[in-house]
Amino acid sequence: MAEMIFDLSIKGRRGVTLPQRDVEGDIHQILPAKFVRKAVAELPEVSELDVLRHYIRLSHKNHFIEKGLYPLGSCTMKYNPKINEALVRHSCFNNIHPYQANETLQGTLEILYDLQRDLSEISGMAQVSLQPVAGAQGEFAGLKIIGAYHKAKGYTNKKKIILPDSAHGTNPASCTHAGYEVIELPSRADGRIDVEKLREIVTDEVAGFMLTNPNTLGLFESQIKEISELIHGVDGLIYMDGANLNALMGIVQPGKIGFDILHFNLHKTFSTPHGGGGPGCGPVGVVEKLVPYLPVPLVDQKDGAFYLDYQHEDTSIGKVHTFYGNFAIILRAYIYIRMLGPEGVRRIAENAIINANYLMKLIAPYYHIEHQEYCMHEFVADGTRQKKEHGVSTLDIAKRLLDKGFHAPTVYFPLIIQEALMVEPTETESKQSIDSFARAMIEIAEEAENDPELLHNAPLTTPVRRVDDARAVKILDIRYPVSRDN
Ligand SMILES: *Cc1c(COP(=O)(O)O)cnc(C)c1O
Repeated sequence: MAEMIFDLSIKGRRGVTLPQRDVEGDIHQILPAKFVRKAVAELPEVSELDVLRHYIRLSHKNHFIEKGLYPLGSCTMKYNPKINEALVRHSCFNNIHPYQANETLQGTLEILYDLQRDLSEISGMAQVSLQPVAGAQGEFAGLKIIGAYHKAKGYTNKKKIILPDSAHGTNPASCTHAGYEVIELPSRADGRIDVEKLREIVTDEVAGFMLTNPNTLGLFESQIKEISELIHGVDGLIYMDGANLNALMGIVQPGKIGFDILHFNLHKTFSTPHGGGGPGCGPVGVVEKLVPYLPVPLVDQKDGAFYLDYQHEDTSIGKVHTFYGNFAIILRAYIYIRMLGPEGVRRIAENAIINANYLMKLIAPYYHIEHQEYCMHEFVADGTRQKKEHGVSTLDIAKRLLDKGFHAPTVYFPLIIQEALMVEPTETESKQSIDSFARAMIEIAEEAENDPELLHNAPLTTPVRRVDDARAVKILDIRYPVSRDN
């Protein structure tokens, strides 16, 4: 089968007629010689149908949520409503410019204002800046806010941030990037924060504590009150990595239980197609005492008119992105929240939790699961049994899932679970699709017993077989193979 669009080319076939050139005059007078083509461009000569079939075929080589369940733990690969896509492309939104006068942008500013308010309510925070454009950038902004708070209070010794060993990889990276030293806190055997150990390492030098809740094991960190007393006792601040808010929204308001700063991952929780590095939006919310340090501008209203608010410009950490952040994602989140309403938002979290627990129970007899109590929106199974008894690794299991039409879970993360398989089904999967994923996992457990060799060779049916990751990093080659002779 032809793989490249050039391979489909038939001399003289056409799919499109280009418009006549509408610039008068001799091209050689208009453009410098080096920009004028000497020969006709080599383009594939194909029909409209050829092109469509080509791209549809290419799209099917990949995995996407509309094709099948995508249980990539911690990434919240939920189905994203298509109405979002229709509305963000509406001319009301894609013909505006950030330098337009406020009076001509009232509707857009109102959306920004409303979303700031909605996210404040969902998180229990006093105010939210929509500016950061990734979860990791929200973390960075939050850490800068921690620094600005301590500077304003005259501290010079607060150089350390405490992180549990279950933390997402971006957490230590953001801390280091923001100039902090990281202290790693080992988790307890039950996967949660060890408050006694924390008590031993908290000193005046601690600027803050960063916690993912639910943590990366899918467990709710229940000792926030104790943690809060310890950290606030040295005037440190508590940062919540809110990327897992899909499990909490409408149920718990982090700003009301001791957290001071939180970032959202709008692209995960609030429905934007994401993956492969973006696009993202990571708003940061804070309690009242930290509002002066948020990135500017915020959006406010006075006498029914919305405006960009620079009132805290002098104390703000500054801008972390141009204008107001990633507007198309902000808009999707707004549409999503407005469609759901408060009860709908809560139902999302409840169903995310129910789905994860249901799936965990289905596969628990076949895979080791270290923390088997109720999970939140995800859980971590592992392949240690398969590894020990049959020499089958988690990578083998993950690759075999591709043959069965599913995306693999997140593998080998969190680092504290060997052979980890981190599974997040999300709320948008039906009982039937969760059942069929569980069946695939069970089949693989049986294959591990009966035919381990099959799993070492998986995937067998995908367009690209098992790749050599290490080699790909060292000798990356993504060129179009030019081997045509015509
Ligand atoms: C995804 C994620 C992040 C990072 O978000 P990006 O938008 O990818 O930068 C941080 N923490 C947790 C727990 C996450 O799941």
